[in-house]
Amino acid sequence: MNWKAECILDAKATLGEGPVWDHREGRLWWVDIVGESIHRFDPVSGADDVFDFGQQVGAVVPCEAGGLVVAAHHGFYYFDPAENALTAWSDPESAIETNRFNDGKCDPAGRFWAGTMSTEGGGATGSLYRLDTDRSVTRMVEDITVSNGLAWTADRRTMYYIDTRTRCVFAFDYDFESGAIENRRVAIELPEDHGSPDGMCIDSEGMLWVAEWGGWRITRWNPDTAENLGQIDLPCARVTSCAFGGPNFDQLYITSARTGLDEEALKEQPLAGGLFLATPGVTGVKADFYTGTAG
Ligand code: CA
Repeated sequence: MNWKAECILDAKATLGEGPVWDHREGRLWWVDIVGESIHRFDPVSGADDVFDFGQQVGAVVPCEAGGLVVAAHHGFYYFDPAENALTAWSDPESAIETNRFNDGKCDPAGRFWAGTMSTEGGGATGSLYRLDTDRSVTRMVEDITVSNGLAWTADRRTMYYIDTRTRCVFAFDYDFESGAIENRRVAIELPEDHGSPDGMCIDSEGMLWVAEWGGWRITRWNPDTAENLGQIDLPCARVTSCAFGGPNFDQLYITSARTGLDEEALKEQPLAGGLFLATPGVTGVKADFYTGTAG
């Protein structure tokens, strides 16, 4: 199956990322990592509120109690958009100035998982961390190149995780009660004629939607068979992440990037950095929010 996406916000983000649908407000949170900003898009009015963050911001997740938890260059923060107030929580990599947080997502128990990467390229200096609801932080996976997409199955027994430069979606056994993971294995290895796997989400049938950096598309995969089930074509190469939203969770919001594209490339893909929407005939699931104390 092939589906089309339409640009719903010509945001020209440098590195648009991390879409998460807040069903309570009917709005989409997303970030521009390199643009150092948090965005709140209202699909009804078309308005996109921008909150300057003052450092690179990898991911945001809404809190059940209100506000957002943020994984940024310098660690975890709480952000209250109503007051534009920021509180630093912790920085597990304060000793590695060249690393920053990248993608992150909440698990079904409301813990926030987010991973890091080097801002200078190079080796596997990143890690995946778990921020628990008591705000304690645990390093869960080491030797990561570019920590990216995360998803959990509806039965709460499997976690999927992308380390971009490996080109793999890994699966782990996941313990809902403790947050432990074990038994890492390759679920999908993207073939060379695809882009690099970036952000990811899961639908109500347990299939994965993977954003392809450099691949001009989102692809849908069966993680049990590694079969590619279809794709959404985008008018830009650097497709970064996706999340289901809308009143019926049947709309797939897609982020993209302009970073690293030269003038000629930008002429070919003027909508790069935009926010896109597709309706692929499959529903997603409600995003999990952080269940620890806000503030
Ligand atoms: Ca990413």
